[in-house]
Amino acid sequence: MSPMPFAFFKGKVVPMSEACISIASHSLQYGSTCFAGLRGHVRGNVVRVFRLKDHHQRLMRAMRIMGWDFEISLEDFKNALQDLIQKNQPTGDFYIRPFVFSDTEMLKMDYGKLTFHLGIYMTAFGPLFDPGKGLRVKVSPWKKVADDAIPTKAKAGGCYLNSALATTDALQSGFDEALMTNQEGHIVEASAANILIRLRDRIIVPPLEGILDGITIRSVLELLQDEGIKVEVQPIDRSMVLSCDELLITGTAAQIAHVESVEGRLISEKRGPLCKHLQSRMKRILEMEDPKSSEWVTEIQIKGVKNVNHSQGKCLA
Ligand code: PMP
Repeated sequence: MSPMPFAFFKGKVVPMSEACISIASHSLQYGSTCFAGLRGHVRGNVVRVFRLKDHHQRLMRAMRIMGWDFEISLEDFKNALQDLIQKNQPTGDFYIRPFVFSDTEMLKMDYGKLTFHLGIYMTAFGPLFDPGKGLRVKVSPWKKVADDAIPTKAKAGGCYLNSALATTDALQSGFDEALMTNQEGHIVEASAANILIRLRDRIIVPPLEGILDGITIRSVLELLQDEGIKVEVQPIDRSMVLSCDELLITGTAAQIAHVESVEGRLISEKRGPLCKHLQSRMKRILEMEDPKSSEWVTEIQIKGVKNVNHSQGKCLA
């Protein structure tokens, strides 16, 4: 997964090789970053971005949670992204990684003394998981870090040591993804995605307290609510997961993916009706064919595109 040639770094677009910080920087030593993750969907000379405003808002809210002195307006954020897209000229779908970092060279654990900047880079990115297959997941031995240990709503870089331990354990044990439990033993998330289950005619999501406020799960909940479909919010136990009819994983990278089995126990081999419905509604939204499209999708023009290629980037896991 190699990044595209240009990055937005400290206020301007530069070649990736110039977007560098010292090995003594606070962010590298202590994981003091907060990040966002968006997808760019290329359609001819237009890039469609899902809920850009909400991603910007979540990143700015992260600054408040962490008490970091950094702010950028939605307009400047969008302009930075637009300049970067223009320079990189993407010809297929891609991933956008904006993040706030500190290059202050300091060993002290004092956020008050750090200077923060915005960086953005892009990389070609197709489906995270094979869309033709259900996921085989396991419950991670690594518990989800508690919100009173590291704020889980800030998407803070250091928090992802926890996600990476869970993902690595799942992959090394022969599974595709991990489910994570909180300190009380309830299943709350996948390693970097939200979850929801269908238990016969009930749709259930775990409470969003103590986990990331996923923009995809929020969108799913709003769509279902608008359609008059009731969603219950309640703690999800291991036994509910093992006996449910559909288990879905949602996130910007994961999109809406269905779980085939949990620790070898079959949930649903094929995509169930809820998964199919949500995937097709999301597809219509991105194709600008849904009443929600104009509210949720920002279109960014790429000027001077020569080669138009609708193919997805390679499947990354
Ligand atoms: N939980 C965690 C821990 C995540 O990192 C992500 C990915 N951003 C999600 C949930 C899903 O959030 P979103 O739908 O906003 O991508």
